[in-house]
Amino acid sequence: MNLELSEEQEAVRRLAEDFVAREVAPHAVAWDRAEEVDRGIVKKLGAVGFLGLTIPEEYGGSGGDHLAYCLVTEELGRGDSSVRGIVSVSLGLVAKTVAAWGDEAQKRAWLPRLASGEAIGCFGLTEPGTGSDAGNLATRAVRDGDTYVIDGTKMFITNGTWADVVLLFARTGGPGHRGVSAFLVPTDTPGLTRRPVHGKLGLRGQATAELVLEGVRVPASAMLGPEGKGFSVAMSALAKGRMSVAAGCVGIAQAALDAAVRYAGEREQFGKPIASYQLVQELISDIAVDVDAARLLTWRVADLVDRGQDFATAASKAKLYASEAAVRSANNALQVFGGYGYIDEYPVGKLLRDARVMTLYEGTSQIQKLIIGRALTGVSAF
Ligand code: FAD
Repeated sequence: MNLELSEEQEAVRRLAEDFVAREVAPHAVAWDRAEEVDRGIVKKLGAVGFLGLTIPEEYGGSGGDHLAYCLVTEELGRGDSSVRGIVSVSLGLVAKTVAAWGDEAQKRAWLPRLASGEAIGCFGLTEPGTGSDAGNLATRAVRDGDTYVIDGTKMFITNGTWADVVLLFARTGGPGHRGVSAFLVPTDTPGLTRRPVHGKLGLRGQATAELVLEGVRVPASAMLGPEGKGFSVAMSALAKGRMSVAAGCVGIAQAALDAAVRYAGEREQFGKPIASYQLVQELISDIAVDVDAARLLTWRVADLVDRGQDFATAASKAKLYASEAAVRSANNALQVFGGYGYIDEYPVGKLLRDARVMTLYEGTSQIQKLIIGRALTGVSAF
């Protein structure tokens, strides 16, 4: 694994850093308070190429490798996890999955629009009754001539109220994950309604929704991948998605480190900057070690993906470590800020609120441990 960035990767990282400093960071607190990021950010993300990273240019993408994708994701996560999540879902979970599993017509229909930001995607797996146990989902798609009719409810869907297309998982066969198929469902299809989920602890700028499907009719050509392979589609999407979440968490931890170092140098107590106290330095050095460890685990996943190697277990390790590290780091930074860390004029409280969900979605920390444990022992404890 080469730990040096190529000139191209460094240029992409700098582009992302500048973009975030100009277009994201100055608005993050206001978007958090308003519970909605400015939707104009999507077109800007598309224009700069960040919604088309790793997607082939012939489908409107901006190419690039997965390390470049992680570098951009880290910078976005450093600026505002709500914006990072829009990209991780629309590009990471939806466009990349269409690129990997779609037929020519599906790729031509969706990839240029998703890569440019003209359309946004969302990923509909979780249901009110099935979260970790996603293979037992209840939403049903019944074949009727050349169409499928879909009924069910999806919960906690990121980008849900905005999205133009949902990559939806529904049961076309018997019980268990082998009966699941994937569909690309335009969100303006009659019978599909969305309700916003309000009152989230973090990621408040992000549009999260419940999707209700009642007699939603789609052509059979909307199926993504073979019938009965929907769970494999979902798991392949989530393996790469975990790399993206991990990169976003590195961004949170880096932001926590930057803020803690800056504040410790400025704030004086007992006549000296608090940076001069060993117990404050311990908080800061713990964050720094977490940043490095989380970043290296994340880059390793990107390296494995780019070399065409098996990366799923490495992605679970990176996501597990980086998400827990982001929570720890934001919490340590808050301690450095004292009471000022607890109010949202200062950045670290938001970092902690945003970090917390990373240990829950795309597989909780417990589920990541079961995936890693299964790979090590050969025994599934699910
Ligand atoms: P549960 O599965 O009920 O888990 C509850 C607890 O039980 C957890 O601690 C879990 O670790 C533990 N547990 C469960 N099973 C086991 C086991 N076998 N062994 C040990 N412990 C176990 N979903 C989507 O499909 N698309 C999205 O875009 C999306 N975005 C989200 C955005 C937000 C802000 C949130 C909060 C969630 C989002 N989710 C999304 C859903 C998310 O992936 C689920 O919340 C997550 O998978 C956990 O499912 P659950 O909430 O039903 O918890």
